[in-house]
Amino acid sequence: AAEEGFDIEDVEGAIEEAGHGPLPVLAVIGRPNVGKSTLVNRIIGRREAVVEDRPGVTRDRVTYEAEWSGRRFKLVDTGGWEQDVLGIDASVAAQAEYAIEAADAVVFVVDATVGATDTDEAVVRLLRKAGKPVVLCANKVDGPSGEADATALWSLGLGEPHPISALHGRGTGDMLDAVLEALPEAPAQTFGAAIGGPRRIALIGRPNVGKSSLLNKVAGEDRVVVNELAGTTRDPVDELIELGGVTWKFVDTAGIRKRVHLQQGADYYASLRTAAAVEKAEVAVILIDSSESISVQDQRIVTMAVEAGRAIVVAYNKWDTLDEERRYYLEREIETELAQVAWAPRVNVSAATGRHMEKLVPAIETALEGWETRVPTGRLNAFLGEIVASHPHPVRGGKQPRILFGTQAGTKPPRFVFFASGFIEAGYRRFLERRLREEFGFEGTPIHVSVRVRE
Ligand code: GDP
Ligand code: GDP
Repeated sequence: AAEEGFDIEDVEGAIEEAGHGPLPVLAVIGRPNVGKSTLVNRIIGRREAVVEDRPGVTRDRVTYEAEWSGRRFKLVDTGGWEQDVLGIDASVAAQAEYAIEAADAVVFVVDATVGATDTDEAVVRLLRKAGKPVVLCANKVDGPSGEADATALWSLGLGEPHPISALHGRGTGDMLDAVLEALPEAPAQTFGAAIGGPRRIALIGRPNVGKSSLLNKVAGEDRVVVNELAGTTRDPVDELIELGGVTWKFVDTAGIRKRVHLQQGADYYASLRTAAAVEKAEVAVILIDSSESISVQDQRIVTMAVEAGRAIVVAYNKWDTLDEERRYYLEREIETELAQVAWAPRVNVSAATGRHMEKLVPAIETALEGWETRVPTGRLNAFLGEIVASHPHPVRGGKQPRILFGTQAGTKPPRFVFFASGFIEAGYRRFLERRLREEFGFEGTPIHVSVRVRE
């Protein structure tokens, strides 16, 4: 490395940064209007999480990447909830339930100017049951005079209330320090359970694509083993199902079976459920209703799984309903609308007839294999050397930037870091990614490539 003009510490630092595994998940929960979205905006430092002025506007973006004191984590924002759909208690409880389920730690926001309400108490009970680390935020403490309001929240029994003003930033730094202390380095859901336990599958897709039908089909009535989560009294959320002689854990199946019918807020609820399931899973089986046009909602779900860095299988369900014409158009739609997962194994199934159910497991195994692939550094650099010789980067301003060397910094999904002598254009990066896939497979997995340029 040194002879190529990179400092060895820079190289090691870049590899460590690029190689991070799945990020720990922090959920921000609380009643409507306590300031959750304002706080999320402050933490991510952008206006992306948008505090909605118009009530009833559903947002389907629920997770964001954030960083504090050099540590990265995922943030789940539950601020998009429609408060009057189920009745306030039920809706706050339902959103909190999903968010807590997916999270490694929770920020519970209470409006200190209002004090603890019955709804807040109900959330506290959920938090107790879940047993996840909690940081209690007493929000809207805009000045010293509000501190007493914050102190009153000791009564919730969640430990020290952190007085903050999400709006003005007061106290948020200290609060985030407490969050980092509560947050594990790696997500327990993804890493802890990965060792030796059953592989975790999220069955996702927009409403009515056939998720519960498929689940029932693959599980069969008596082959379902109910896995009551220790220490909780709520509905079991994960099910162990034997397929192809192997036991798999289907995560958050309660969310699939529960069939919550809502008028407003349903999309947001579905997004939150999908995000929670994806966070807990290693592989996402994305169900598409092949009898209908591929929609923006389908694409959003695909994007969510890709951005979460999960192994992916795409299952086209309701295959029994297709005539020749629809089949023709479906293929065109797949090409144009789902190009972002052209690398994912595909199965054409029917939950109704059982068609091609046996192809599901091999597809899942293929995707997981790609997800866990590690390319030895020697092989990678031999490959990079060939590429650079046969397809050099275009000359820019009299100089020719070159990829000097590279390494795979991590797996699940594969993450690469390449070191270059100058700025590498987006087109050339895409070309490298394409060639990487051609050379090494990576079927069923997103891959990340970051490029470091020599100073
Ligand atoms: P959410 O429904 O919990 O996501 O709440 P929002 O973030 O949408 O905030 C609800 C309202 O409270 C908005 O009008 C915010 O501007 C206001 N708000 C949020 N944080 C603070 C704060 O720290 N101080 C004050 N005074 N108002 C705040
Ligand atoms: P979910 O909302 O994704 O869980 O979807 P459901 O499993 O409830 O299915 C929605 C509807 O599609 C139901 O009426 C199912 O009977 C129907 N359905 C599911 N899978 C298939 C299939 O493979 N073929 C046909 N023809 N109908 C299906």
